[in-house]
Amino acid sequence: MEADIDRILIPRQRIAGRVRELAREIARTYEADAADGLTLVTILSGSIIFLADLIRNLPLRMKIGLITVSSYAGATTETRGAEVLQDLNVDVSGRHVLLVDDILDTGGTLRLVRARLAEYGPKSIRTCVLLRKPAKAPPDVPAEFVGFDVEDVFVVGYGLDYNDHYRNFPDIGVLREELYAS
Ligand code: 5GP
Ligand code: MG
Repeated sequence: MEADIDRILIPRQRIAGRVRELAREIARTYEADAADGLTLVTILSGSIIFLADLIRNLPLRMKIGLITVSSYAGATTETRGAEVLQDLNVDVSGRHVLLVDDILDTGGTLRLVRARLAEYGPKSIRTCVLLRKPAKAPPDVPAEFVGFDVEDVFVVGYGLDYNDHYRNFPDIGVLREELYAS
């Protein structure tokens, strides 16, 4: 696995520190809203490790919801149209929703999920992403909480995959270019 990584972009210690900071920002934002109930909705599968670390730093009463979206059909690093593969598994009507995703790239995934969630009548929707590629992120897809802005390279690790591999790599790294066919 290590041999397939060209360079480490964000080492695990930096990720851990930033996740703790993000949790503090989120806690401050939702403190006053606690009575209405908070649901963290995670987009599978890329966000699982981020979610696990984030919620253990978040001392708020919360529920967890899951939604599965596919954006990469097969072995490619180009974003295709996003598609909901498995719909949200909890009721969020009247609740505050914090959407948690691994990375905001072209925004297609979050645009789709936000629209879907809005149909369920939540009290509010905010978005938290670990990574954002500002070169591409469109203005109509806001993210209130952002871990790191990164350059426009294909990254893997800490939940992020290539063809479903490398999710267990503990740092965020850049995959060697010759490994993906584009
Ligand atoms: P978007 O729909 O914003 O273009 O892309 C979002 C989704 O594409 C993310 O949830 C993630 O699954 C995938 N994605 C975008 N950029 C990268 C990247 O650099 N590395 C990996 N592994 N996935 C990415
Ligand atoms: Mg994803």
